[in-house]
Amino acid sequence: QANVTDTYDVVVVGSGAGAMSAAIFAADQGMSVLIVEKSDKYGGTSALSGGGIWVPNNHYFKARGGNDSYDQALTYLKASTQGSVDEKRLRAYLDNAPKMMQYLQENTQLNYTVAERYPDYYQHLPGSAPGGRTLDPELFDTSKLGDEVDNLRPASPTTLLLGKIAWTARHAHKAMSKERGWRLMIVWLMLRYKLDFKWRRKTRRDRRAALGNALIASLRASLMDRKVPLWLNTDFQELIETNGRISGLIVKRDGQEQVIQVRKGVILGSGGFEQNQSLRDKYLPKPTQQAWSATPPGNNTGAALEAGQAIGAATELLDWAWWAPTISVPGEDKARGVFAERAFPGAIVVNGEGKRFVNEAVGYLEFVDEMYKDNQKTGGKTVPAWVVFDAHFRFNYAMGPLMPSQVMPDSRMPKAWHKTVYWKADSLDELAAEIGVDAAGLKNTVVRVNGFAATGNDEDFQRGGNVFDRYYGDSNVKPNPCLAPIKKGPFYAMRLDAGDIGTKGGLLTNERGCVVREDGSEIPGLYAIGNCSASVMGTTYPGAGATLGPAMTFGYIAAHDLARQP
Ligand code: FAD
Repeated sequence: QANVTDTYDVVVVGSGAGAMSAAIFAADQGMSVLIVEKSDKYGGTSALSGGGIWVPNNHYFKARGGNDSYDQALTYLKASTQGSVDEKRLRAYLDNAPKMMQYLQENTQLNYTVAERYPDYYQHLPGSAPGGRTLDPELFDTSKLGDEVDNLRPASPTTLLLGKIAWTARHAHKAMSKERGWRLMIVWLMLRYKLDFKWRRKTRRDRRAALGNALIASLRASLMDRKVPLWLNTDFQELIETNGRISGLIVKRDGQEQVIQVRKGVILGSGGFEQNQSLRDKYLPKPTQQAWSATPPGNNTGAALEAGQAIGAATELLDWAWWAPTISVPGEDKARGVFAERAFPGAIVVNGEGKRFVNEAVGYLEFVDEMYKDNQKTGGKTVPAWVVFDAHFRFNYAMGPLMPSQVMPDSRMPKAWHKTVYWKADSLDELAAEIGVDAAGLKNTVVRVNGFAATGNDEDFQRGGNVFDRYYGDSNVKPNPCLAPIKKGPFYAMRLDAGDIGTKGGLLTNERGCVVREDGSEIPGLYAIGNCSASVMGTTYPGAGATLGPAMTFGYIAAHDLARQP
């Protein structure tokens, strides 16, 4: 029998962006709040992310004269989700997301800016926008966290310039698409890092946090301003229900079981189940591997899902993830997502028959969804798939961990990467043999794509046919910035797995963020946000930031709903 050790108005489980925002909103509503986090670091996957937040009709864009509206965004969300998500939830999202961001911007240390040119992912759907709905974090000075900086889950080196220097999404895009002045910008970022002598004496880590790390650091600093306690090494295990409402929870803190009572309720924000192989095997399409996930190992193992199911909560979308193709690199603890590089001209993706099966430049969720569909058709020849490119591409562009050979020639790459991360051969035939792909199929595909590169028209998959595809294209390449021929040896291939950046199915909630049972009735006092809840985006990924946006927005909604409880 565990002892009751503490009582709070609200307990928030997990310390991702949704959970931390919810705790801020709850505290600002005058409630006492505790955050419990199972790992020894706070921030979860959110801390490793790009930190982008998708907020249609936001005040940042409007202040810059941008054109968007609630109705346009609703049209888009309805067209994306195709009736699979209750319209009340869609409306709750669109109503509250702009308010949520404005509140954080005005009342906390969060500092965001609008990505005016980052397009929605489904440009063919009505209501889509060519930019202005994704918000990106500015850099955050982590010296404001004092010693708490040591408990911040470090950013993935893959999201930092040269693996260590903080840069914003704006900087990264400028460098990737080689906009004017990109080289100077990089020199300036490097100098700023190097000349920060005081911080350099302390650590290799940049003083500035970027992207998802900036989001989490600024939320943590804002929680410290409010004196909201955050317990690390505290594993949530079970919910306690008394007379039909949630009255507390059982946690294991530093190995000791204890009961925490709640006066108002519990907000579950403890992520999905992508780090639990048996739940993956049970729910996700096959084949599926925990090791293909780009999320931190061991964190998100489905605790909220199982605790909710144990008390009769309804679930949805358990066979879905926020898919993203990934590459595993020896010695790294998690896979790397391949988000942008698929759109660069001169790289194609093929299945085991050597055939393309998708517009390589589509959003990452659609990409892996198409991988699974083609895998069915080919009897298992599309997971993994192979990205193929030539020496010209290799010289000019990055692909996964391979920086362009003009800065990272093959001779300077770790030896262990050859035939684990990349394969290389003098001819396409030899390359096909190395990776076990049909050689004739690959050759035919390359001839066909080279023809498309000359005309600028991808007759098979319309790659580069819209503003989203072209966002990561190379504007110097004509006539289509996403298409270039593959002809100069040596030729390269890299293995793409059917990875994810988190699962997206979980406990079903209503428009107030409250968890419901199969019959639609609420479980009073129980709320779920982020990837432990069934996504308000259904099976889609409408724009950059469509996972963090809902997590934080339903945190806002849940906290206000809790404040209204007696
Ligand atoms: P998390 O942020 O993972 O937080 C869950 C926390 O709960 C973890 O700290 C975990 O340890 C804790 N926890 C788990 N179980 C327990 C338990 N039993 N008790 C206590 N604590 C527990 N999304 C976007 O919207 N925009 C982006 O720009 C973006 N970029 C991305 C880039 C990368 C490289 C990756 C990997 C993901 C990206 N994503 C992005 C996806 C996004 O990061 C995740 O979908 C999001 O962080 C999930 O938030 P969450 O709060 O549900 O989970």
